[in-house]
Amino acid sequence: MPLDIVILGPPGAGKGTQGKLIAADAGIPHVNTGDMFRAECAAGTELGERVRSILDDGDLVPDELTIEVVRARLGQDDTADGFVLDGFPRTLAQAEALDRVLVEIDRGELCVVLDFQIPDEAAVQRLLGRAGVEGRSDDTLDRIQHRLDVYHEKSEPLVEYYRARGILVGIHADRTVEEVFAEVQQVLAAAQQTRS
Ligand code: ADP
Repeated sequence: MPLDIVILGPPGAGKGTQGKLIAADAGIPHVNTGDMFRAECAAGTELGERVRSILDDGDLVPDELTIEVVRARLGQDDTADGFVLDGFPRTLAQAEALDRVLVEIDRGELCVVLDFQIPDEAAVQRLLGRAGVEGRSDDTLDRIQHRLDVYHEKSEPLVEYYRARGILVGIHADRTVEEVFAEVQQVLAAAQQTRS
């Protein structure tokens, strides 16, 4: 049974950090739409040029574009044993599209959806801390607040979408990297046991 994982949570919740750890530990790809879009921008591709100002503003890339990027990525051979999807879905339309992609690539239900929970103030502090280190153009206080607003309006409803399907597990994300990863590993072990 493939280990198909989705990570939900606001910017600054640590999805990327934990996504990388989970992927390395399980030997499956970490699929992060934000990283993919930033790579396109850095490479100056046509897609990169189309999304650059959207990323800078902290708005969402249109669903059609984002869905195509994810469909192409999940269709690659290296996802055969599973994937860690981080930053997607971010809208209800994307979640519904993901369900269709899963059918296309012959998968059943997702193994688990991890909901990274952290208070807004803690997320803001982390992102401001990261701003100096990573130099991301969307890590200014103004854009961070906007991204959190977009999260609450567009993405938070997905928590209910997956809770209703019985595959959502909350993660206490406002703790150290090690503590969060320990909780994630327990959740993944339990999820795999339930399914096998
Ligand atoms: P964060 O979670 O810290 O805001 P990400 O690296 O996940 O950052 O995403 C950065 C930006 O990439 C988003 O603000 C958005 O512009 C774009 N993006 C990433 N994933 C999606 C998505 N699923 N739908 C639309 N836009 C996206």
